[in-house]
Amino acid sequence: MNEIRRPFRPGYVKLARTGELAARARELDGLLESCEICPRACGVDRRVRLGVCATGDHAVVASWVPHHGEEPVLSGRMGSGTVFLANCNLRCVFCQNFQISQRPKSFIGREISDEDLAAIFLELQDRGCHNINWVSPTHQVPQLVRALVIAAARGLSLPIVYNTNAYDSVRVLRLLDGIVDIYLPDLKYADPAMGATYSRIPDYPHHARTAIAEMYRQTGAAWRLSPGGLLQRGLLIRILVLPNDIAGARESLEWIATSLSPDVAVSLMAQYYPTHLAARPGRYPLLSRPISAGEWDRALEALEHTLSCDRCFIQDFIAAPESYRPDFDNAENPFADESIG
Ligand code: SF4
Repeated sequence: MNEIRRPFRPGYVKLARTGELAARARELDGLLESCEICPRACGVDRRVRLGVCATGDHAVVASWVPHHGEEPVLSGRMGSGTVFLANCNLRCVFCQNFQISQRPKSFIGREISDEDLAAIFLELQDRGCHNINWVSPTHQVPQLVRALVIAAARGLSLPIVYNTNAYDSVRVLRLLDGIVDIYLPDLKYADPAMGATYSRIPDYPHHARTAIAEMYRQTGAAWRLSPGGLLQRGLLIRILVLPNDIAGARESLEWIATSLSPDVAVSLMAQYYPTHLAARPGRYPLLSRPISAGEWDRALEALEHTLSCDRCFIQDFIAAPESYRPDFDNAENPFADESIG
């Protein structure tokens, strides 16, 4: 007997009908008054003061575009509807989007209304994108959900991708339960000292692992895929391999396998290149080169020994030319054709 499969409807569409989505938006909005939206817990009233993320109570968007460089289950044929949020709650010295994440002065005066943000979501849907991909959303969750209330009322029906550095609070993630369809967190480090040195945050592994465990509680390891093979609901963890074992990829993979499940999907990424402060001569010597073939092989071996890898993504490794030198003024990405945003 053939299984009858109901058409997919993102969770927020149902929550919008019952009024629950608007209630969650109000509750999230209240968190702006004494901000503990991320584990930085600045405690500022973002209607009148700014915390570490330098973002008030309105959305600030750097750009939006159908993106064809995400994992194939997200980009598909028509692209992932990426919305790049400006500013960030981390200060990664090697951030490949530092012009967006760490240049708050360049976004002064570029705050937009909830209606404008909703119109961006709907434009991406009209352009045929397969999902709405919130890139670096942590510090702007209340604004995003307020806009989602408006967009849902106007017919938005694409899955929401929460594309995060994972320095998220569990309280906020619980309010996103049923709103976010696809969690796409980084797992940047296994060693707190690395997070302190390279992202200016002392407790990254603890908070990121706690946040990812909450994402896993919501989605489990299984995926829901469309008949065309696009991800509609699930969890995909990204690990960017860094030189000199700074990311601690093996340790993170072992944590995923033992604390979550060996069936969790991982995207192992080889695209690191020195940029931003990591490209400054002598500033962060351990990050001043792309990864070597040996480092990539060790990460691959760790992946194969820890996870079932039924649904893992493995980037192509491209060896950097021997002449490669980071150039602070014009940091070139030798992996530009392969990069995942
Ligand atoms: S979201 Fe921004 S203001 Fe709020 S705690 Fe995090 S860094 Fe501080």
